[in-house]
Amino acid sequence: MQIQMVDLKSQYNKIKEEIDTAIQDVIDSSAFINGPKVSEFVDHLSRYLGGINIIPCANGTDAIQIALMALDLKPGDEVILPVHTYVATAEVIALLQLKPVFVDVHPDYFTIDVDLIEEKITSKTKAIVPVHLYGQCADMDEIVRIASKHNLFVIEDTAQAIGAKYTFPDGSKAFAGTIGHFGTTSFFPSKNLGCFGDGGAMFVRDDNMAKKAHMIANHGQRIKYHHDIIGCNSRLDTMQAAILDVKLKYLDEYCESRQKAAIIYDELLKDVSGVKTPCIFSQSTHVYHQYTLTLDKSIDRNELQSFLKDNGIPSMVYYPVPLHWQVGYKSFNKGEVFPVTEKLSKTVLSLPIHTELILEEQEYIVKMIKKFLKK
Ligand SMILES: *Cc1c(COP(=O)(O)O)cnc(C)c1O
Repeated sequence: MQIQMVDLKSQYNKIKEEIDTAIQDVIDSSAFINGPKVSEFVDHLSRYLGGINIIPCANGTDAIQIALMALDLKPGDEVILPVHTYVATAEVIALLQLKPVFVDVHPDYFTIDVDLIEEKITSKTKAIVPVHLYGQCADMDEIVRIASKHNLFVIEDTAQAIGAKYTFPDGSKAFAGTIGHFGTTSFFPSKNLGCFGDGGAMFVRDDNMAKKAHMIANHGQRIKYHHDIIGCNSRLDTMQAAILDVKLKYLDEYCESRQKAAIIYDELLKDVSGVKTPCIFSQSTHVYHQYTLTLDKSIDRNELQSFLKDNGIPSMVYYPVPLHWQVGYKSFNKGEVFPVTEKLSKTVLSLPIHTELILEEQEYIVKMIKKFLKK
């Protein structure tokens, strides 16, 4: 059996006709940049997310960068983020000459540990960028409380959690990415709502902030050839928007199939000792961008991975090197220790999860994990 980490081909085959027609329509119209499909997709995504402003852009990294640029921060201003995340989150902060300030993550939920945020706040702190890692929300109620107390902006990195829902203590609900000043997402092919290339978007509650972000993504211009601020060039192309507009209709279904697969893994793995299955944070749904195990230290992760690989099973480590240990980010490492992240970097293992995964494949994967552990 050869299993795939993400099966984009079978997912495409199920909606091939719709996708092919959408692509052909864009080719026929020749409206490759800023074609009508971009605003149609933007409208539909906005409706899906409860009516928030959507600014499309070229990828999820740009989305975070443009959101930060819209906040008018000054070089040296500090931005708080989890140290256990994809590099993009820290990269754009550093690129804008802001200072990334790392915070460790919660050992069960893998999102920023809210109890450790306030001790990192200084007079230079301007924003918090929580990451809804692996597909579930960070503790947004607490993050919003801390942010308003200290007058900070909140940018939610929602690249892995589009469609996840957060429930506030009063029972009200909101989609991941629609709670802070900005939400950002990526439409990278393997993300939960993925296109056939690069793509991204910002979700913005405030209308003026949305206009500003739109302007920044469009060379700092509101009127063509009149550049009021320094911006960049970051567009979602029409072909990708057309594909996303088709796939958005299936997003709920896609989330459900991932959730079903996760429940099956949970059940199959529940009595396997040394293997901890993902914990669900009570205030959030989990859309399982990743299904990430934590292995006991006694298990040799490398050996398990190569055993699985030899048996046709891919697995991934997100992320093997914490940000404060990355060579390019040395200057932000003040010798601090992040015990949870450091441990996770050595013990996490993500199993294949996607919308087309079937029971037989999951049973086989777990059978092979058990076989390895018995050796
Ligand atoms: C994928 C991802 C990004 C970046 O998205 P791109 O579209 O690849 O630029 C940012 N943050 C997180 C947490 C991601 O998973």
